[in-house]
Amino acid sequence: MANYLKRPNGTEDVTPERIRKWYTVERVTREIAESFGFSEIRVPTFEVTELFQRSVGETTDVVQKEMYSVIAKETQFTLRPEGTAGTIRAMLQNGLLAEALPQKVFYQLSCFRHERPQAGRLREFHQFGVEMAGAASPYADAEVILLGKTVLDRLGLKNIVLNLNSIGCPACRAKYQEALRAYFTPFKEKLCETCQERLVRNPMRLLDCKSPEDRELSKDAPVILDYLCDDCKAHFEAVKTALTGMGVAFVINPKIVRGLDYYTKTVFEFISSDIGAQGTVCAGGRYDGLIEQLGGQSVPALGFGMGLERLILTMEQQGCEFLEPSVCDVYLAPMDEAAYPAALSYANALRTLGARAEFDLAGRSFKAQMKYANKLGARYLVVLGSNELSEGKGQLKNMQTGEQKPVRLDTAEHFTADYTEITLSDQFGGV
Ligand code: ATP
Ligand code: MG
Repeated sequence: MANYLKRPNGTEDVTPERIRKWYTVERVTREIAESFGFSEIRVPTFEVTELFQRSVGETTDVVQKEMYSVIAKETQFTLRPEGTAGTIRAMLQNGLLAEALPQKVFYQLSCFRHERPQAGRLREFHQFGVEMAGAASPYADAEVILLGKTVLDRLGLKNIVLNLNSIGCPACRAKYQEALRAYFTPFKEKLCETCQERLVRNPMRLLDCKSPEDRELSKDAPVILDYLCDDCKAHFEAVKTALTGMGVAFVINPKIVRGLDYYTKTVFEFISSDIGAQGTVCAGGRYDGLIEQLGGQSVPALGFGMGLERLILTMEQQGCEFLEPSVCDVYLAPMDEAAYPAALSYANALRTLGARAEFDLAGRSFKAQMKYANKLGARYLVVLGSNELSEGKGQLKNMQTGEQKPVRLDTAEHFTADYTEITLSDQFGGV
């Protein structure tokens, strides 16, 4: 096959056969975010590269290895590798932070990272994410985590473990970075090249390295929880107490430092054991310093990103239910050329009642039309022949039971009035 006929590595097509799975996660995430008082925000697919360098961080895998950047008319742009930076930029640019706080927004968007494609790891993937700005309370952490958990529960997912950690504030982290530097320096030569540089610039990033050798070396590294200041410790305790009070189970995992530099205090991941190495379906935390770092006022904030492909993969793995496909309610079968205008008009009248109505558009024979209507899963079929049209009467055939019921066809209005007796299927279920 010619190269231009192949989709780029690490991207996916969503064919009509699979689209219901997307509607399911899109609908559930939207409904739950709205029920928690979050409103949708939409931001551009690309931003000025510097936005990501300044927020995600110069020593992260994302910025060092994974960004898709282009120079267009002398400005360097990057396809968003995540949603937080653009969302915070939009909040600043549109003055949202000057309004009543907290500002609570959610998004469903595509992200781009140049990674090695594998199951659950794509180059174009999609995230549902939430961001809450202007909330310092530990109950905000609990609320955001609970939102994530509610989504996972509503989708019917099981065996997903909430991993929780605190990575402190810049004050406690400075001491911790020193301890890490002291721990890793004797192994310096054994670390991967990127991590040798990280050892100097940002040793905490070492804990996030994907190389198995580096992971092994970091096994006995000091843990941040031993370095938290009193304020961060109290905040973490309060988050844990709030979650426990809500019956949300979690494990403390001091290895979670998150791949992006902007996190402070609470960080968390929901991890599934059902989809192998790419098991993190949702990840987030608090980023109290980010807004100020980007040039805004000091506003504490937090959020998470949920990988929609990984969610769907886990749901498939666990046999979770997806929204039912929409089916054809009424199929109109014109028998000769003269019946087509009537088919066109009846189909349209039925649609105004909310039905999904279709008719032959391929010049099929009667037999072939029956077969096609069955293939569509049509619930009812009406034959439109010259007799039916001249007598103004037809038969509404229930395709499942074979039962027939007379319908008046003399005007489209009558036809649709008769049709209302049919109980419509939930054809709008997905959207
Ligand atoms: P990982 O450690 O798996 O690389 P990450 O820490 O880079 O993940 P985040 O930046 O926190 O991921 O993104 C939030 C969520 O987005 C992840 O938990 C995951 O569900 C999803 N995600 C991240 N990268 C990809 C990708 N390349 N393909 C599909 N989903 C992804
Ligand atoms: Mg990653």
